[in-house]
This record gives sequence, structure tokens and C-alpha cells, in this order.
Amino acid sequence: MELDGRTIAPNQLLQADICIIGAGTAGITLAHTFINKKCDVLLLESGGLKPDKQSQLLSYGENIGHPYFSLDTARPRGLGGSTNRWLLLLGDNQFGARMRPLDSIDFEKRDEIPYSGWPFTKESLDSYYTRAEAFCKIIPQGFKLEDWIDSKKNPPLPLDPEIIKTVIFKFGSKDPFLKTYAEEIRNSNNVKLVFHSTAIDIEANEDVNSILKIHATGPGYNKFEVAAKIYVLACGAIEIARLMLSSNKQQNSGLGNQNDLVGRFFMEHLHFYSGFFIPDDQNLSIKTTLYNEIHNVNDVPIIGKLALNDTVLRSEKLSNYVLQIKPLLSPFTEILEQKYPAIESAGVHSMRSLLYSCKKADKNIFSDIKNIISDRDNVSKTVFRKILKKFYLSFSNKMIKLYSLHHMSEQVPNPISKISLSHEKDAFNINRVCVNWCLSSVDIISAIRSQQIIAGEFVKTGLGKLYVVMKDEMTPHPVTGGWHHMGTTRMSDSVKHGVVDPSCRVNNISNLYIAGPSVFPTGGYANPCLTIVAMTLKLSDHLKVTYEIF
Ligand SMILES: Cc1cc2nc3c(=O)[nH]c(=O)nc-3n(C[C@H](O)[C@H](O)[C@H](O)COP(=O)(O)OP(=O)(O)OC[C@H]3O[C@@H](n4cnc5c(N)ncnc54)[C@H](O)[C@@H]3O)c2cc1C
Repeated sequence: MELDGRTIAPNQLLQADICIIGAGTAGITLAHTFINKKCDVLLLESGGLKPDKQSQLLSYGENIGHPYFSLDTARPRGLGGSTNRWLLLLGDNQFGARMRPLDSIDFEKRDEIPYSGWPFTKESLDSYYTRAEAFCKIIPQGFKLEDWIDSKKNPPLPLDPEIIKTVIFKFGSKDPFLKTYAEEIRNSNNVKLVFHSTAIDIEANEDVNSILKIHATGPGYNKFEVAAKIYVLACGAIEIARLMLSSNKQQNSGLGNQNDLVGRFFMEHLHFYSGFFIPDDQNLSIKTTLYNEIHNVNDVPIIGKLALNDTVLRSEKLSNYVLQIKPLLSPFTEILEQKYPAIESAGVHSMRSLLYSCKKADKNIFSDIKNIISDRDNVSKTVFRKILKKFYLSFSNKMIKLYSLHHMSEQVPNPISKISLSHEKDAFNINRVCVNWCLSSVDIISAIRSQQIIAGEFVKTGLGKLYVVMKDEMTPHPVTGGWHHMGTTRMSDSVKHGVVDPSCRVNNISNLYIAGPSVFPTGGYANPCLTIVAMTLKLSDHLKVTYEIF
């Protein structure tokens, strides 16, 4: 079922058992688990069927910290949320995203990583990761290296496994979220998707221990209300913090913010594209196909990357880190392709036909010759292109082959790195966000040291040399994020140190839950989607058991 916020009358009250705010990765996953269950669900989505300019205006905000993406582009508003921006080409007109679970070490409390430690182990999330893989349609399951390599065709690099390991990233299409699950929700009888409905305020009871209503509005500022037994915020790590901070009528500092934690610990994955790898063996690219490009194994698109072994992370006191080596195309062939693109014309086809089949006795060559003569311009261009390409390729084969280095590393949780409310207001008179993305010196030191360790191992094993651009004394200008917003309502088993408890319930509020990466206490190096889905499935199970929803 669906409804449009533009047609809801002002002051109307919508009622449901569960109200989910935001139909992105987490919201769609959660709503989907309740299809055909004995409960009514309202899934409020600020945007429409697709992200549009007007809805997107609500996402504007200020960046006052380390340079970051413009906030209106960093999180699309519309059904599917950020999945709309998953643009990695997986073949067959499929676009998707990188997926990998966090490592066991990411869940641990590590003395060298301040504020680290999840309230449960990776192993206790494993069954949900298994279900998440099925949900994201990246099965067969698992990420064990041996299941995803062919030691003859694409072997891992011969590096010391005690120091460097190869890890597998899978790629999942956005279609299950944007098409299959979205469609199933829209066709369901008990889950109602409410488009163009932005939650603008969360109203609690007098003691602020239970939520009474969500105040929402359509684009025409036709304010309406939603009353439910359970409320789940699933509108992304930036907007969840914004909504909680601006819902400040009962708690001045914002809902759930009694310990001044809402919005703090904003984390990203540090991305930096710095340096080159020049292999000693010029034919290495043939041996590194596992790492070079997205390729299908067991019908799943995958790629291999290099990560540091846990023992190294512990002994060197480093945050988690992964490196992708990417062969650079020869610039000559790129220029050639641009300047002399391939031509497909009648004369060119006839020329090919003559070249490859003229020896056949039954071939009528006269019509081909006629085509070639009348299309001589295109034919001569194609011949010229062929000669030039042969020349360029023989030249570039003698050139040194290069790989660019793409690094992704964990950001250490940092209370200074935070989302707060800006003084500016949006069309609904709600304060916009102000993002102060702050890196700590340990983030940069750790990333640089990780690079150095990998560089040392490459030399030691005779693979070649890593030319590292980022050095200790440099300001971290080349570091960007990956649109992976995490940590703004962190989870903890201590009420003092977290915004939500291990079940993702907001502390001291009986019926308010959070789904999505804002609850991550640490973020490892793995892209967040698979963990978001796993955690959301866990939350769904918890709600079903607690509220007896079957
Ligand atoms: C370009 C890009 C590439 C990415 N690549 C990868 C990748 O390769 N691998 C990976 O794992 N992750 C990737 N991510 C990150 C990943 O998409 C996000 O971490 C994930 O989608 C977050 O899920 P979410 O449900 O928390 O938020 P979102 O998917 O952003 O959904 C939030 C939803 O809430 C809605 N909303 C917001 N405010 C309100 C409100 N007040 N009321 C009602 N609705 C509201 C929004 O319109 C949106 O639909 C990428 C992100 C981007 C932008």
C-alpha cells in the first residue's frame, strides 16, 4: 500500500503499530521483514519514488570541519535513500555497491583505539550476516578467501600471511532494494509506504520515557501526525541526529541527548588515492587479476584487496585498513580511443567480412567491394586506427606498468567529530545540519604506517616498490570520505556512554529504536551496507519477540 504526504489533510492522525522513518537501506530492510505479519506498519519517506530536486533541498547543510562532500549530494532523498547512488557498474546494466562484513577485531574493545568496543562479538552477529547476504543477493555465502579464488587463474599475491592478508569484497546490486523489496512493500496489505512525508518532530510523554507521536509534513507544509506503539528512526546517520536534536521541546538538549552524545562520534571511512606501485615483474598484472578488476566468481561480482593481519594491527596499535591496487590504463591507448573511436559502418563490415572470409569459395565478394568503395572514408579511418593501435600497443608494452593505490581505513571514534544544528532553517522551519568532520592525528598516522608496512612487504617479497605520496608531515588534504556516515547515536551497554542499548533502543525511552549505521560504535574499513542490513534484521527479530509480532 502507499500514500502520498501531499494529499494528507492538515492535522490528520495516521495510526499504526510500527512507524518507521526513512525508506533507505535500513528502512526498506526493516519494513520488508514485517510484510504479512500481524501488525500495521507506516514507512514514512521524505522524498518520492525517485530523488527529486525539491526534496533534496531539505538535505542542505554546513560543513565546518575537514573538507567533506556537499551535504545535499551526500544522501539522496527518495525511495531507496542512498542506494540510489550506488553506481558501480556490475555488468548487465546492473549497478551496485561493495559489501563486506566487519572483521571480528572491529567489535573488540582495544586499548589503543579510544571508545572502541561493541556490546557483542562479531560471532553473535554472524547468523544475521548470513541472512543479510541472502537479503542483498550476494550468495553463495561467506567471505573465506579459499572459496573465492582459483589458485591457478587468479592466485593471491605471495605475501607473508602473518603480515598481509587478502580479503574479498563482494558487490551487490541496488535492484533488490530499489525494485524487488520496494515493489513488495508497495504491494503489501499491512505495510504502507507514505511518500513525501518528512518527520519534523518526535513528541514524548511528560517523563520523556515513551514516544506519543511523530509530527510530519508533506511538501505543502500540511502538517499531520503519526501515532504508533513502536517508532524506528531509519533516516540515515546525519538526519537521525538532526531529528533527535531538533526534537527538543521536552528535553532542551534534544531527545535522548541527556549525556550530550547525540550527533557526536560522526565517523567516515578515510579514503585516499595516493601513491603508485611499480612491479618488478612487468607481467605481474596477469598474476594480479584477483585484485585488478571486478570479476564474477560463483556468479557473484568480487574483488580482492590487501589488509593487515590482526597481529600487526595489535602490535603496531593501528586502526583497521585495506588497500586496493588498480592497474592504470596506458594513456596512449586512452587517447587513441578518444580520438579515433571504432566505426561500425557497411563498408567496415564488408572489409572485415572480406578479410576473414574471402577464402571461402562460395563468397560473393562483389557486393562487399562495392560497399568498401562507397564507404572508403570510414574504411580508411578504420585501417589507420588499426595500424596506429598496433603501434601504440607495441610501444606501451615496453612502458613501465603502474598501479594506483586506493586506500580505505577506519576512523577512530572521536567525540569532537560531530553533527549539530545549524542556525539556518529549511523549508519546514527545521534547523539544518552542521557537520564538523574531524580527523584525529592517530587516523593519519595509522593510515601512513599501514601503507609503510605494505610497502616494506612488497620490497621484501620482490614484488616491486610502492611509491607512497602521503607522508607523516603532510596535512591530510587528500583524505576524503566514502558517503559512509556512521556513529552519531552510538550503541553501548552503558547508559552513560551510548545513545542506544545493544537492542538499538534509545536509552530511557521504551518505544523508540534506531536502525542504521548511526548506532555503530566503530566502523572498521568495510563498507557499511552489509552490517546495516545484518543489524536491521537483528532489530526486527528483537521487535518481533518483544512485541509478539508473528
Ligand atoms: C554515492 C554512494 C556510494 C556508496 N557506496 C557504498 C558501497 O559501495 N557500499 C556500502 O556498503 N555503502 C555504500 N554507500 C553508503 C550506503 O549507501 C549507506 O551507508 C546506507 O545506504 C545508509 O542506509 P540508511 O538506511 O541508514 O540511510 P539512507 O539509505 O540514506 O536512507 C535514509 C532515508 O531516510 C529518508 N529521510 C531522511 N530524513 C527523513 C525524515 N526526516 N523523514 C522521513 N524520511 C527521511 C531519506 O529520504 C532516505 O530515503 C554509498 C553511499 C553513497 C551516497
